[in-house]
Amino acid sequence: MQKTRYIFVTGGVASSLGKGIISASLAKLLQARGYSVTIQKLDPYINVDPGTLNPYEHGECYVTVDGAETDLDLGHYERFLGVPTTQANNITTGRIYQNVIDQERRGDFLGKTVQIIPHVTNEIKRNIMLLGETGEFDFVITEIGGTVGDIESLPYIETVRQLKWELGSKALVIHLTYVPYLASSGELKTKPTQHSVKKLQEEGVQPDILVLRSEHDLGEDIRNKVGRFCNVDRESVIQSIDVSTIYEVPLKMQEEGLAEVVLKKMKVLKHGLPEMGQWNDFLKRLKSAEEEVHIGLVGKYVELADAYKSIIESLIHAAAYNDRKLELHLIHAEGIIEENVAKQLKDMQGVIVAPGFGDRGIEGKITAVKYVRENNIPFLGICLGMQCAVIEFARNVIGLEGANTAENEKANTAYPVIDMMEEQKNISEMGGTMRLGAYDCELVEGSKVFDIYGQKEISERHRHRYEFNDKYKQQYIDNGMIPVGFAPKTGLIDVVEIPEHPWFVGVQYHPEYSSTVVDPHPLFKAFVKAAIENSKS
Ligand code: GLN
Repeated sequence: MQKTRYIFVTGGVASSLGKGIISASLAKLLQARGYSVTIQKLDPYINVDPGTLNPYEHGECYVTVDGAETDLDLGHYERFLGVPTTQANNITTGRIYQNVIDQERRGDFLGKTVQIIPHVTNEIKRNIMLLGETGEFDFVITEIGGTVGDIESLPYIETVRQLKWELGSKALVIHLTYVPYLASSGELKTKPTQHSVKKLQEEGVQPDILVLRSEHDLGEDIRNKVGRFCNVDRESVIQSIDVSTIYEVPLKMQEEGLAEVVLKKMKVLKHGLPEMGQWNDFLKRLKSAEEEVHIGLVGKYVELADAYKSIIESLIHAAAYNDRKLELHLIHAEGIIEENVAKQLKDMQGVIVAPGFGDRGIEGKITAVKYVRENNIPFLGICLGMQCAVIEFARNVIGLEGANTAENEKANTAYPVIDMMEEQKNISEMGGTMRLGAYDCELVEGSKVFDIYGQKEISERHRHRYEFNDKYKQQYIDNGMIPVGFAPKTGLIDVVEIPEHPWFVGVQYHPEYSSTVVDPHPLFKAFVKAAIENSKS
């Protein structure tokens, strides 16, 4: 195929209907036919990037290889497609406005009045086309965040209107809505969908395809009715019924013929069948696993599981590939104290201590590490979780009383075993000192992680300010916690393990960002395997 085609996915009726999953599923079905596809998310909020957003409000911040802090939907895109995303895959209104204002300050607009149309819409357009212009993609799928009718999303919908006009059959709009079921009358209701499509039409956009989320089968009548009211032909009314796992959605969409309709409408007439073999194998294992594996995830945002989306998905992949059903226990770090830690963790086959920022919950995390270390429960510490393991070991094994991370200023510790390294200290602006994005790491031959990865050189994504303070390195080695992964140029310590323990690994990086359905992360797979085997013995 020569020229990139652009697919826009909008949402109506309610938020959280799963535009990201529908976009990722369509992308998968196109990719499985041999096309190269990427997905982009346009977020209508004014924050410049999601990095500083509260995880309680927005879920996890997903980090790309090039160090962009992005929306968690990019995690779905990567898990489904297995293709890395970059900064260009996530744009917010804040960034669009920042660019427009920068251009205005530079005088690029020659003193003209700067307006939403054309200046803001042109900047949105530029960001959409940027991915297509790389020449790498047959399809660029652009998901528009928010719900049609929101004030914030207007400039985006307007841009879609213009692009549809300019690109003709090279652009297509899919609108995702919800068809509620009224239990009292026993009916499925299409009115919210009709109104949502009308709203879109008012803004100048006629959707080409409607995807209807529903808890019940829609049947022919409803589909015909929606088609008739919304100017959409019958085969372009697609049902997306609730399923037990998001990984089933691509197969449901395949049954509904979503990708076929897209290809037909975009005049791509010759195309093969999708190759979904590996995906199907995964799904079969995921759904047929009966025996449970109990994993505890100790964190401070446990009220909102989305805050740990990538970790949870990585565990789901790892459990399926170990033929186990994941029983995840989200455990509140702040509630863990010496007196109750046994009660909370004794039934866990493996424990993960989660990443995080700030000092809230740190002491509970440290107490959890002590318990799993002393009781031989497999442990994986991620980022702050690794740092807590380092602190715990200093306090309780090496004997450095009150050891802490320099991030916890209140503690004013004499033993900052986690600290900023010298070269970072002068840069004080928030964000400026972060190690962000993918960095190389060298593993020590003979270590557990070396065996797990099966190679010496790896690359993993980071998002943190503080580091293992290598001033204390020898004391750790002497006492049995061994640094086994190093950043090649700086020598920064990226991985520690305790060889005496059945399975105790702390990583300064985030393996969870790179586990995919077809290529689950080796560290999570090995951790879950250890959890299963350790509890047998
Ligand atoms: N707060 C710690 C740091 O900045 C850990 C960050 C994280 O867990 N992502 O180093």
